[in-house]
Amino acid sequence: MIQKVKRLVNNAKRIVCIMGQEAMVECGGVNLWSPDNFYRIEKQYRKSPEEMLSAGELTARKVYFYEFYKNEVISTLPEPGPTYDAMKKLQEAGKLSEIISFNIYGLEYRAGLRNVIELSGSVYDNYCPLCKKRYPIEYVAGAKGTPLCEECKAAVRPNIRLHSEKVQNDLYTQAVLACKNADMILVLGGNLSGSKMRYCTGHYEGDKLVVIHSEPNYSDKFADYVICKSPKDVLPLLAEGV
Ligand SMILES: [Zn+2]
Repeated sequence: MIQKVKRLVNNAKRIVCIMGQEAMVECGGVNLWSPDNFYRIEKQYRKSPEEMLSAGELTARKVYFYEFYKNEVISTLPEPGPTYDAMKKLQEAGKLSEIISFNIYGLEYRAGLRNVIELSGSVYDNYCPLCKKRYPIEYVAGAKGTPLCEECKAAVRPNIRLHSEKVQNDLYTQAVLACKNADMILVLGGNLSGSKMRYCTGHYEGDKLVVIHSEPNYSDKFADYVICKSPKDVLPLLAEGV
């Protein structure tokens, strides 16, 4: 299967990569939704990761939101690995046109990739909701308690999509257009079961929708090709010699 998909990659001109959670975890990131973490978080915070990372929590229980955010979300920051090196190769070869990411760790930009659509935002981008001043991640991580804006003392928030917040319309439009114009889509470390993923890939009109992830999912049947391995073990092979 890898050889077959590799031939398709060799002939493709407008590949779109869609990054799912496994692409972040294989770079050393933490999956808060893994059974172990989910259980630990429910026990420790008495709420699910969704509830802790919700707009409601940020509004009503700031102290707890930032405690959770600092201790669980940005305490371990993944670093771009082999999957991202391979994507860089594909982009330099003029094959990879856009990258759509559902992750929040800015791995694509940090790997030097261009044309990245961060549907869930990035922990590296933080802002004051009042005066819009931007802050680096270090400012949030280093703050005692709630990070406050130097200008207006409002709580600085990460520019990530919290649970119950919508994806910005213009980002969605960009993602849909990218999929519509793609001649091949590689879903890396994710599956096609989520509604946002389905919405994006639903606009793809070709017959080269490839899913590469290590855990089989019922939604694999919607893909044209499925490779059940970690992206980091597959993408370098696909990008070899392009
Ligand atoms: Zn401000």
